Amino acid sequence: MPVIVIVGAQFGDEAKGKITDYLAANAEFVVRTGGGPNAGHTIDLPEGKVVLHQLPCGVLRQDVTAVCGPGMVLDPTALDQEIRTLEERRMFKGTLIISERAHAILPTHIAEDAWEEKLRTATHPGAELGTTMRGIGPAYADRYGRWGVRFGELIRPAKLRQRLELLLASKPHLAGILDPNQLQSDLGEVAGRLAPFVQPTEPTLWSALARKETVLLEGAQSALLDIDFGTYPYVTSHHPTSAGALVGSGIPPFEVSEVVGVTKAYATRVGAGPFPTEVGGDLGAYLQREGGERGATTGRVRQVGWLDLVLLRYVTKLNGFTSLALTKVDVLGGLDDVPVAVQYVTPEGQTLTDYPPADADDLAHVTPVYEKLPSWPKFNERLVARLRDEGAAALPPTLKRFVAYIGQETGVPVEWVSYGPRREETVWLGKTHGSPAAGSVTAWAQ
Ligand code: GDP
Repeated sequence: MPVIVIVGAQFGDEAKGKITDYLAANAEFVVRTGGGPNAGHTIDLPEGKVVLHQLPCGVLRQDVTAVCGPGMVLDPTALDQEIRTLEERRMFKGTLIISERAHAILPTHIAEDAWEEKLRTATHPGAELGTTMRGIGPAYADRYGRWGVRFGELIRPAKLRQRLELLLASKPHLAGILDPNQLQSDLGEVAGRLAPFVQPTEPTLWSALARKETVLLEGAQSALLDIDFGTYPYVTSHHPTSAGALVGSGIPPFEVSEVVGVTKAYATRVGAGPFPTEVGGDLGAYLQREGGERGATTGRVRQVGWLDLVLLRYVTKLNGFTSLALTKVDVLGGLDDVPVAVQYVTPEGQTLTDYPPADADDLAHVTPVYEKLPSWPKFNERLVARLRDEGAAALPPTLKRFVAYIGQETGVPVEWVSYGPRREETVWLGKTHGSPAAGSVTAWAQ
């Protein structure tokens, strides 16, 4: 079956971009289903590094159609610039289509993002969300308030004028900041350049599925930032879960064959919000350095911590993962041991293993209980060469046991292990059927 959904299993930056790009080798379509320029997928190619913000990874591969799906909110000016930059670097190799139903992020939304953060801080110091200030939250708010401007309207000047007037009328708190005439003329130029890409995308995907072609639904942001199931209010404004990927693409559930959760072997978080397994001090600084943990969109340093199995079990159930891709295992190479949080204890003494508190403050006050697993050696050229030649069999035995342990603890097999940023620095462990507790991943790790 041809639809594979790729979901970030943590707080973002799990290397979803790298895994999507890797899987895109066998796909005809790659669809971004939500979010906007708050994504920063770094792909390390032989021709150079690319950071994709709004474009799906499919644009980097010939014979792949990249789709900016209906669920997205796209900044037209930034998108136009991103396309042109990739074209200038001769890296725009696929075909691009943009849903006429995707919403436009306008300068009003960016102004509002800053205004809202100020309002939060002025009302309650420390209550800011740490958004990326790209206007994404306000654009989603207008989408659901029915004030938004869709790409199908952006490319029709008379309709655009009417929608802009309505939108600006709904924002008296920004009166005088933005001139509708200027806005219309700025947008008109960019819209003219984007117009050839704008079309109905769902029928194209339905036809592809009828031809049994493979469609990847590329994750952006992550399940723990889901507007309802994440650490509210420190979340993004849409549903970066497997269910959200369907709404954001117009693909029905029965077409989905696989749901891949992407998780680092440790954890990171950027922006505000609870992070129970955060590690500070010298060890935290070491992990930040080794993992290059700095945001591709904002340049902000990411907080680092240990892998949190309570949260991973929760998102596994929430998304129905059929397999996991475990990334950045190289970063932990050479440590004394590898701690993993196996449960929480609440201040009231309750033990939690697979369902975190819904309230962000309560989550901030749990005490994680760790199990320490044996570490694996630091990755060196010899190990990398063996992995390239021999594949998964060459993984160090303690890393194999770590992989099997994660499969056992979550109930889904780890199918891919990524040990470096490049496409080829990935091993496929094969498909195991059913729980790895009873299956071949555990046997393989003996
Ligand atoms: P995404 O938004 O989930 O795609 O993640 P980002 O691109 O923001 O962050 C992942 C970073 O890790 C990027 O700089 C990747 O090049 C890099 N990366 C991906 N996989 C690996 C890996 O297995 N090991 C190491 N060391 N880096 C990786």
